[in-house]
Amino acid sequence: MQLYTKILLGMLIGVVLGLLVGPNSFLLPQDGVDLTSNAKVLDQPDGQEVAAAKLLKTAKLVDPLDKDAQWLRIRWSLTSADILKLRETTNVQGLKAGKKLEGWVRNDPASVQPFASWGRTLVDWTEWIGRLFLALIKMVVVPLVFFSLVVGVASLGDFRALGRLGGRTIAYFTLTTVMALVIGMGIANIVKPGKLLGEDDRNSLLASYEGSVGDTVNKAVEAPSLVDQIVGIVPTNPFQSLASGDMLQVIFFALMVGIALTMMNTDHAQPVVDLFARLNDAMVMLVHIAMALAPIGVAALLFKVVGSTGLSVLAALGVYCLVVVVGLATHLFLTYGSVIKFGAKLPVFGFLGAIKEALLMAFSTSSSSATLPVTMEACEDNVNVSGRITSFVLPLGATVNMDGTALYQGVAALFIAQIYGMDLGFADQVTIVVSATLASVGAAGVPGAGMITLAMVLTAVGVPAEGLALILGVDRLLDMFRTMLNVVGDSTAAAFMARLEGDNLRIMSDAEDKERADKGFEHRLDHPPHAVPPHDD
Ligand code: ASP
Repeated sequence: MQLYTKILLGMLIGVVLGLLVGPNSFLLPQDGVDLTSNAKVLDQPDGQEVAAAKLLKTAKLVDPLDKDAQWLRIRWSLTSADILKLRETTNVQGLKAGKKLEGWVRNDPASVQPFASWGRTLVDWTEWIGRLFLALIKMVVVPLVFFSLVVGVASLGDFRALGRLGGRTIAYFTLTTVMALVIGMGIANIVKPGKLLGEDDRNSLLASYEGSVGDTVNKAVEAPSLVDQIVGIVPTNPFQSLASGDMLQVIFFALMVGIALTMMNTDHAQPVVDLFARLNDAMVMLVHIAMALAPIGVAALLFKVVGSTGLSVLAALGVYCLVVVVGLATHLFLTYGSVIKFGAKLPVFGFLGAIKEALLMAFSTSSSSATLPVTMEACEDNVNVSGRITSFVLPLGATVNMDGTALYQGVAALFIAQIYGMDLGFADQVTIVVSATLASVGAAGVPGAGMITLAMVLTAVGVPAEGLALILGVDRLLDMFRTMLNVVGDSTAAAFMARLEGDNLRIMSDAEDKERADKGFEHRLDHPPHAVPPHDD
């Protein structure tokens, strides 16, 4: 079985198990509740507040869940750490760790959300597998970008070519991001999904996610000025940039080291370039080792996501989700389709098939930066884009070029405005295009980053940021789709730039992938391990 078939199978298993035995499963009894920050635990219905429940986040239901009951009886116990924390703010006496406590909470979505505790336990038990897989692949990102970019620039040996590639790439990124916004907002203006959301759904969504919005809004710090951002690309301490994974600084430093090497005496520069090239090969091998875990890793990742997203939110926000997904698909086939066909001169489906491993990774990890090593491998090996192009265009793209994120932000801003009954005119919509373009550049390639910078887009046009509560419940699902588009966008840019630079592009077939152990995703780990003999000269 080929690797991507195994990954697909892993995804399917994760989704099915998530629906069947996840925390929101309709099969398992809903015997636990999450308490929001609004929840008040009382000693009896309409009674006194229980001090020992002040910091309580989850509890068990004493009786089977009755959806129509006004009050729910809950049971919980505290750990020693909980009691110490509680003592900092409240005057509680005589509490013992592990003792069962009981109380009542009002049964409304603003205070409690029921879940199946068996499902929650299963997620807790399996979550580490997904995390481990992600950690393994993320481990490679910074060194891979650094080594490959130094080698790429050093082998280019021409600043003008570099400047031309940089200029074209940035112009292309900006143009496609604006295009994505025009498509998404165009559809949202026609369909007006915000007008279709019922009053009840609106109120219950606002109530359920109210607490979580504070966190998101708090994370949305003021964007630094353009000058500061540009100066900030130059690292004062490149080792710090490498250590903290500041991608733009890493890219800048690698570019400069590459340029410096081309200006040195060849005899001196060559050993360094050779060393970096071999280290780069080792990183690529590490990507393949991590990818061997991908099928199980993605199953665990999807089990968690699907299991924790309620189907009821999905039903309420169906039209909004549909507008985002249709927008993403339109941008994919219209914009990228044209660039792939007429710019890169490749068959559209052939191209998408060639980068399928990257697409599956993007979908299941919701992180374009974690997918980056796979995207680079797919473009180089399966589309034959040269390393000097992938090593520049793809890391830059994974950091600043997020068309999927921009499109989603445009739709979300209009959706929320429509629900609040605000009619945004042409000028406001232009403000959204500008601010969402910047917000997508500012968003990091990690899960949920687009939602955080969306707070800034909303503020730019005066839409209340609390409106984020309306879309929070489906954000993680939409993130999977928009990340996939982000990765297609970067890969398309790499192929197009490669064509402009005269690369000889071609799509590698599955059959060839199977035959060649040195290219593509199949059989890469089949070499027998051997000790590397020490150098003795
Ligand atoms: N998760 C997205 C990415 O990594 C960013 C976003 O939240 O939109 O590309």
